[in-house]
Amino acid sequence: GTGTYEPGNIFARILRGEIPCNKVFENDYVFAFHDISPKAPVHVLIIPKKPYVSFIDFSKTASAEEIAAIMQATGHIAASLDLEEGGYRVITNAGHNAGQEVPHFHLHLMGGKALPAFPG
Ligand code: 5GP
Repeated sequence: GTGTYEPGNIFARILRGEIPCNKVFENDYVFAFHDISPKAPVHVLIIPKKPYVSFIDFSKTASAEEIAAIMQATGHIAASLDLEEGGYRVITNAGHNAGQEVPHFHLHLMGGKALPAFPG
């Protein structure tokens, strides 16, 4: 979640088309795809196309347009996957304490079942 961006990370490789993914949504700023190891019936990862390591990096560096775009895309995807009625969760992990595995900023969108209580 900290440090300089590593262009070899798995999401950078997905963005470059070097490895496949199950795409959900794409526009000029945002790319979204199904998580390879879903923790809920719907588990989508939503990422900026530009290289940001974490939430802080994104919030400090991205343009207002990019920041708006990821929020709007997330809402659009949640609605388009029929999550509004049943409910859903949006989270980001940053750095060691949150268990961030992939150092390219991403939002997790989860729904389709009752999710475990969070923050608990
Ligand atoms: P983090 O722990 O960094 O917040 O979440 C990383 C997420 O990326 C995990 O939920 C993991 O299952 C997912 N993931 C890791 N590698 C791949 C991959 O190659 N393809 C896809 N679609 N998801 C991946």
